[in-house]
Amino acid sequence: MTTVSDKDMIVGRFAPSPTGPLHVGSLVAALGSYLVARNAGGQWLLRMEDLDLPRVVPGIADDMMATLEKLALHWDGEVLYQSRRTEHYRAAADELQRRGLAYACGCTRSEIAQIASAPHEEGLVYPGLCRDGLPPEKVERALRVKVYDEVISFDDGIMGRYSQHLTASCGDFVIHRADGPYAYHLAVVVDDAASGVNQVVRGADLLASTPRQIYLQRIFDFPTPAYFHLPLVTGPDGAKLSKRDNAVSLAAGRDLEQEGGRLLLAALRFLGQSPPPELQGAAPAEILEWGVAHLDICAIPRTPAPFLYP
Ligand code: GLU
Repeated sequence: MTTVSDKDMIVGRFAPSPTGPLHVGSLVAALGSYLVARNAGGQWLLRMEDLDLPRVVPGIADDMMATLEKLALHWDGEVLYQSRRTEHYRAAADELQRRGLAYACGCTRSEIAQIASAPHEEGLVYPGLCRDGLPPEKVERALRVKVYDEVISFDDGIMGRYSQHLTASCGDFVIHRADGPYAYHLAVVVDDAASGVNQVVRGADLLASTPRQIYLQRIFDFPTPAYFHLPLVTGPDGAKLSKRDNAVSLAAGRDLEQEGGRLLLAALRFLGQSPPPELQGAAPAEILEWGVAHLDICAIPRTPAPFLYP
């Protein structure tokens, strides 16, 4: 009999931001990450990305967990709350500063906009004004990590090879705002490493953020997880789906005891899977069991599409 050592165990996760109720986009990310992890016999963790406290809606994290439970998307272990992990992000940021890899920046957005070249898809490219020291007339507004002239590439399990030249696409990026939380890129890298996450399955809106995260992993000597970016759900007209759109909220106005199975079947189809007609009317647990056993990662489409929910 062969045993799987912990070292070989796949550890995936779902990491929603509790800033609004779960919607079909997050359902796809939850289901996709669950299926890919469980299909590999792995664990599936849950992390609440509630760092940006002013944007967090009270009660939403609990609602999200209740919704996941109703859909039989049961996670392993304790839920991690980013809001309780500030000391770890601070330690990581301090280390970058100690190693001369991060610096205080006093630029305002409009100062950067005036000097930066045309905005890149990831926003303005920071032109490095404070890289050699904070000018005396400026106050620290943010901490930035230095990037160097290199291309970061990785092979995404769905989207294929993806490369980015950090200097050209974002420049030295913010890891902490003086009046705000630690940045998502820093927190996600610290938390994935702390939880032993070695498989990241999430929406393709984060594909272009991944090279920055890989860059930080390399600096900290953290392993880089396998990445799978799922196609985004669009509105019916192909436009970006809005989180505030009640029509796509899973919690509002839906009886998940009744509708959970149908929603999961629709999400499976969105992910290019072909659940058999016999599963119509089945309970969420049975549908998930089929999905885990029959997952075909190659069938997951790469392009954004509306969520068809009959
Ligand atoms: N919290 C992010 C979101 O809800 C996901 C982060 C991740 O999966 O890395 O979009």
